Amino acid sequence: MNGRRRYHEIKVLCLILVLVSFIYGGTFKNSSNLDVESSTVIMEEKQEKDNKKTDRDIEAPRIAITFDDGPSASYTGKLLDGLKERGIRATFFLIGEYAEMNPELVRRIYEEGHVIGNHTYHHVDITRLSDEEAAYEINETDKVVYGITGEHIRYVRPPFGVWQKDLELEMEVLPVMWTIDPLDWTTENVGEIVNKVVTEAEEGGIILLHDCYASSVEAALRIVDLLTEEGYEFVTVDEMILD
Ligand SMILES: [Zn+2]
Repeated sequence: MNGRRRYHEIKVLCLILVLVSFIYGGTFKNSSNLDVESSTVIMEEKQEKDNKKTDRDIEAPRIAITFDDGPSASYTGKLLDGLKERGIRATFFLIGEYAEMNPELVRRIYEEGHVIGNHTYHHVDITRLSDEEAAYEINETDKVVYGITGEHIRYVRPPFGVWQKDLELEMEVLPVMWTIDPLDWTTENVGEIVNKVVTEAEEGGIILLHDCYASSVEAALRIVDLLTEEGYEFVTVDEMILD
């Protein structure tokens, strides 16, 4: 009988062991499931962060290309053709008297989505004028452009980069300078102009060129191609300033 009781006890013990191991096994299994679940969550969060980082990283650096001293009957049309072909928008700071002489070019600039800025009526140093004369230079250019496009000009690039601070308050125009100046008017060497601009290109840059020279127009289109290839997005100055 002793033997049978022992056998029975061993059987009960075994059953308990099986039960215990089953319960613990389940718990371990559950806990390892939790581990898997929590690590999945962590991985998903990391993935999300990586995606956000990637979005920021792939956001293209922006740059604005601007042209002073036009419109030019000889070269602005060619420039507009090239920009249109490439789907690039630029900013043109027009001289009022040239705008008056070339209304069809002003209309094209406007209709093709570029931004028009004011470069005074006679290309003058604003700081050397009386307030009345300065106001005339800005207003007269605005009047010509408004007559063609039906829109007032909001931006001014003062010739020679000199400006009187109080004028912008009086005239409700915003002066826009530049950050990259290849001095394109001093050379006919297209490669030299292109190299200077491409070397100095950076996010938020504003390129200054003049659309009254064949070499500058050729350089501009090459610059657009090279910087587009480098991943730059071309924007107009209002987009650059407002952001
Ligand atoms: Zn100028």
